[in-house]
Amino acid sequence: MRKIVAIANQKGGVGKTTTAINLGAGVAAADRKALLIDMDPQSNLTSGLGLDSAALEGTIYTALIEGMPLKKLVRATELSGLEVIPSSRNLTGAELELVDQPEREYRLRGLLEPLVGLYDYIIIDCPPSLGLLTVNALVAAESVLIPLQCEFFALEGMSELMSTVKKVRSAFNSMLSIEGIVFTMVDERSNLTAQVMAEVKEFFPGAVLDSSVPRNIRLAEAPSFGKPILLYDIRSRGAEAYLSLTRELLKHEAQSAR
Ligand code: ATP
Ligand code: MG
Repeated sequence: MRKIVAIANQKGGVGKTTTAINLGAGVAAADRKALLIDMDPQSNLTSGLGLDSAALEGTIYTALIEGMPLKKLVRATELSGLEVIPSSRNLTGAELELVDQPEREYRLRGLLEPLVGLYDYIIIDCPPSLGLLTVNALVAAESVLIPLQCEFFALEGMSELMSTVKKVRSAFNSMLSIEGIVFTMVDERSNLTAQVMAEVKEFFPGAVLDSSVPRNIRLAEAPSFGKPILLYDIRSRGAEAYLSLTRELLKHEAQSAR
């Protein structure tokens, strides 16, 4: 089994990075090998795993712009089975630097090729935009997982995201599928949450995953300790939710393999 998933939503702060880190950790906890790739110049995934991107020799930028093989950039994390390719601030410039390069949309895909056989799961954390960095992630991925915050404007921007997915499919990567929509920061006591969930399910039938992630303070605290939730507080509701999401996605894989 082998899978490359991009976690994307151009809306900021919806839980992309939290989902990437904790899904990766869940995969590693299931005794599989996971690689996380930080494609966001904000480098939240990198710092959320306790790495200081300013102090690192090479980051994803070095690969995308200078052609450094990704293998040389892989770092270990506290969790065995979970590895990461960090990002750095200068990745902001990569978006512009890539513009005049040949095959600019295929950069990450090409770089990933020698690595795919080494991992069960490769998870790419996208920045909050639909620019060239996100397009590179979508071209390299087999599926896209979309975190959605349960709020009044949840659906805003979704049509733009879906049309980007369609464009990537027709121009660069016909294999790209929608892994699913996962609700994050869910407040079960709120009527609005239930309303938004119902509306999204109606709009995207079959796309909403069974697992959802509650608003949970432990999830927000964990990155400041550089840890996935499983190492920070395995008994929290956040940990439970991400383990459930991991099981659901691994089950998808097992089913599609059959
Ligand atoms: P960006 O678009 O800036 O990259 P993002 O989509 O990656 O943001 P996160 O960084 O994962 O979003 O989450 C935004 C903020 O919300 C962070 O401070 C994070 O710790 C917090 N957060 C994420 N998920 C939850 C949750 N389920 N409960 C509580 N806080 C959460
Ligand atoms: Mg993020």
